[in-house]
Amino acid sequence: MCGAPTISLSQMPSDPLVIHTPRGLYCPAGDFYVDAWQGVPRNIVTHAHSDHARRGSERYLSAKEGVTVLRHRMGADASIDAIEYGGRLNLNGVQVSLHPAGHVLGSAQVRIEAGGQVWVISGDYKRQQDPTCAAFELVPCDTFITECTFGLPVFRWGDPSRVAEDINRWWMANRELSRTSILLAYSLGKAQRVLAGLDAEIGPILLHGAVHAMTQVYRESGIELPLAEHASVESANLHRGRALVIAPPSAMNSAWARKFAPFSSGIASGWMRIRGLRRRRGADRGFVLSDHVDFPALLETIEQSGAERVIATHGVTDALVRLMRERGRESYAIETQFGGEEEVDLDSPQGHVLSAVEGPEDTKGELSLALDGEEP
Ligand SMILES: [Zn+2]
Repeated sequence: MCGAPTISLSQMPSDPLVIHTPRGLYCPAGDFYVDAWQGVPRNIVTHAHSDHARRGSERYLSAKEGVTVLRHRMGADASIDAIEYGGRLNLNGVQVSLHPAGHVLGSAQVRIEAGGQVWVISGDYKRQQDPTCAAFELVPCDTFITECTFGLPVFRWGDPSRVAEDINRWWMANRELSRTSILLAYSLGKAQRVLAGLDAEIGPILLHGAVHAMTQVYRESGIELPLAEHASVESANLHRGRALVIAPPSAMNSAWARKFAPFSSGIASGWMRIRGLRRRRGADRGFVLSDHVDFPALLETIEQSGAERVIATHGVTDALVRLMRERGRESYAIETQFGGEEEVDLDSPQGHVLSAVEGPEDTKGELSLALDGEEP
């Protein structure tokens, strides 16, 4: 992965609590997987995004707050056990607990303790305020397996309440021009976070079917959100030029979107931090809003965790691993199949991101967002 130091046997701690296997991250002592990408007997799921929650396992364990969302994704037949955040479970003598990750509703970090060691698997996480899920909890540990989606200094996020104001202002400006506003945001998490920040007095709020279904699940889980209706042909005609429509990125340039014409389109994503990406996707506006940790908060979280060993699971890992080693920590990257909902759609994502950030303007043309399918 782009020259990132990957795991080798000599780097592995002598008695690791978690190992990297072809089926995913595995705790041998407890005999369970975390976010396995193949069917396994026991799978602890950090959150319901499709790159972390795969079908086919015999039993799942999730944070209680995330069960309804996970059930929606995994189907009625899935066997899902749930525990409260902070509640402890003993699996073959290994202490396991789940702690809020602040990523999406029900998202959890997995704390694993045995033999005097504490390991934490972060899953996806963020430190920013988000009214649609529990706030990230700092969990002290010896080894921190962290996501690294935005592991470069260029990725830093602004105040999310200012982003919400920008979205509302954009909506008002479009309305004055009698244009519908179509805002592209992933249907699980980002869409509800955006919805929570909308000023419903500006006009009607419509939701694409996929967003509407997931928003209902959020409401059933007790999350209060502004009123919004399903974006049907009738509502498109009725509210043309006034509504804001939240749709998944896959709806961009679709026949579905055209029924709202004339419209202005916007994308809410951390990747909008890179100039050129919005233009490449043909959107009129980019709003820098991510459900992942930005680079300064990533470093801060590692510092605060007290971890002596830092394992980066995916994304742009080189800079983080190098920095951790300079700071005297043991650090390496492992390749995972995570990274769907805000990933770059390329053969070598990390390399292209690096060249786009550090290279000349024309290399930015090689980048395209994985916006053609939702959470691939
Ligand atoms: Zn995620």
